[in-house]
Amino acid sequence: MSSAYAGPGKYIQRAGEISRLSQHVAPLGRNVLVLIDPFLFDRFSSPLQRDLEGAKLSVHLEKFGGECTLAEIARVAAIARGKESQILVGVGGGKAADTVKIAAFEANARTVIVSTIASTDAPCSAVAVRYTSEGVYEGSARLPRNPDLVVADTSIVASAPVRFLVAGIGDALSTWFEARSNLESRTNNYVAGGVPPTAAGIAIARACHDVLMRDGLKAKQAVEAGLCTTAVENLIEANTLLSSIGFENCGCSAAHGMHGGLTALSETHGMLHGENVAFGTLCLLMLENRPIQEIEEMIRFCEQVGLPTTLAELGLPGDLRYYANRIAEASLAEGESTHACPVDVSVALVSDLILALDATTTRMRAARH
Ligand SMILES: [Zn+2]
Repeated sequence: MSSAYAGPGKYIQRAGEISRLSQHVAPLGRNVLVLIDPFLFDRFSSPLQRDLEGAKLSVHLEKFGGECTLAEIARVAAIARGKESQILVGVGGGKAADTVKIAAFEANARTVIVSTIASTDAPCSAVAVRYTSEGVYEGSARLPRNPDLVVADTSIVASAPVRFLVAGIGDALSTWFEARSNLESRTNNYVAGGVPPTAAGIAIARACHDVLMRDGLKAKQAVEAGLCTTAVENLIEANTLLSSIGFENCGCSAAHGMHGGLTALSETHGMLHGENVAFGTLCLLMLENRPIQEIEEMIRFCEQVGLPTTLAELGLPGDLRYYANRIAEASLAEGESTHACPVDVSVALVSDLILALDATTTRMRAARH
């Protein structure tokens, strides 16, 4: 028997927490390098500097280059070494978080992530995704440590465009279904070189799903109305913490494999990660031949919150068979997590199931008119 669990050292979620960052950072060291997403730099650089210097910390602020590339990681790590930074703080979305996670490891510094949107589960995990400067997926790094501290400032996250929150719902929707897939196929997780998950990891993946089903639509509607309700708070936790711990501890499966297939098509490059993953999650349910009630329930959920359920909504209209074949081929490339699925997968089967999903959604819509 073996099992393993991983999660961030500490997670704090509260409105306005960014203004209290020094309280959490000061116990970790004295020299701080803060990497801030470019479009947040003007808004947060001065208040962050005041707060951190007020706690007698030595602070260097740096604008994030915008993409988690090898060059950007090397640049940030070199600054950290030059400044003898003991703590790297990443303020922004998933790409800034992943850059800081890798650079902090290279510079032997502690990692603090301040999450300003809830669109991905990047902030809490020890997995970081690298891209080329053109934004094409290049590879994943599995770091030996999770972030020391993750701060989700709900007032900032709730006031970001609703599309980010919805994309985060799409990414989080995959968490439980991929966990179930890996439990059935006995595929190991991403912790300690890959071993089965602990009961804690499985329970967190399940809790992620339960929060989405209970609060997903309510949260989306609240954010659209400019409100931060209990459902929004719960959703931010599901997207940022539960989804992250869930996927890292229980592994990815065909939902992320299909996402990999979709990103191989340049037509989908306007889509957010979680939007592709939501469609991939529906494909996973089709691949595993789940009951039609479950598939229809998840299609309805995606439609209600505004996640894509057809190829046309992914920017792939017209010749559906052509697109389905290309997605299927790319999703079955060597190393793609589609292979974790407890099913004998083939290009022909995946392609047919993508079209069957598209047809199911189309039939459900026709029946409503
Ligand atoms: Zn994801």
